[in-house]
Amino acid sequence: MRWGLHDVTVAFDGIVALDGVALDVEGGSILAVIGPDGAGKTTLARAQVGLLRVDGGRVVAPPRARIGYKPEASGAWSDLTVAENLAFVATTHHLGDEADARIAMLLDVTGLADARHRLAANLSGGMHQKLAVAMAMVARPQLLVLDEPTTGLDPISRVDVWRLLARAAQEGAAIVVTTTYLDEAQRADDVVVLDGGHVLLHGTARDLQASFPGRLVAGHARDPQHPSWRRGRDWRTWLPPAVGDDLPHGALPPGRRLEPDMEDVVMAAAITRRERSR
Ligand code: ATP
Repeated sequence: MRWGLHDVTVAFDGIVALDGVALDVEGGSILAVIGPDGAGKTTLARAQVGLLRVDGGRVVAPPRARIGYKPEASGAWSDLTVAENLAFVATTHHLGDEADARIAMLLDVTGLADARHRLAANLSGGMHQKLAVAMAMVARPQLLVLDEPTTGLDPISRVDVWRLLARAAQEGAAIVVTTTYLDEAQRADDVVVLDGGHVLLHGTARDLQASFPGRLVAGHARDPQHPSWRRGRDWRTWLPPAVGDDLPHGALPPGRRLEPDMEDVVMAAAITRRERSR
């Protein structure tokens, strides 16, 4: 089954948080929604799970009982233990005899088995997020929507969370995961880049990198003539197609030609959008 949003618009008191957003995700695959703070990620997640009414467009989702959702603020109850949190969700979904085995599996995959009797309030940030993702997975949802499960986590905990998502995808869930980390795009099957409530880009990370417009060169200083952004000690200068094609060869800025990564792809798309909307 495919779930998603079709031309969805959401406004809060005249502020447009989502503007004609379209995306889709099918069972067994992971869609990463990437964007800066305020891009509309939480609004998108809440619209997808039916927690807010959209002002335009259509939401395609399974029935509520078949949706797993992790809100931006964890979602675990602080005064319950790890095992109690999972058991509570299992009870509300009437898992019955299957519950114990399911919870044991999730404790194992999350690495939380040794912390099963610890209060959620006493977990580290990474453990807390893993618990919240596991809670969203308890009832084997058809659609799993996770709002920023990796924000603030160290790189190892982020990998652990993505391992959990891979497990949910293996079980057949369609997964929508929001993130502010561009490198996580490489771990998803599909990527939506959201900026100011608009979908800037939609595709696989590989396709988006392959269709990078123009050229990218590395230099030691910022190029005042062209859009440039810093990475480590180097500057990356973007020559959009019109510029790169028109400049005589000798006029090209000196520097090593680079293969664009997701950060470059997003920077170029954001600059293009800002220039168009001027
Ligand atoms: P963050 O990562 O900072 O949570 P986000 O990408 O999740 O950001 P949203 O929380 O969806 O972004 O917000 C998108 C826009 O909608 C912002 O301008 C925000 O201020 C506005 N917004 C969101 N919820 C409401 C609300 N309930 N009332 C008014 N404005 C809102």
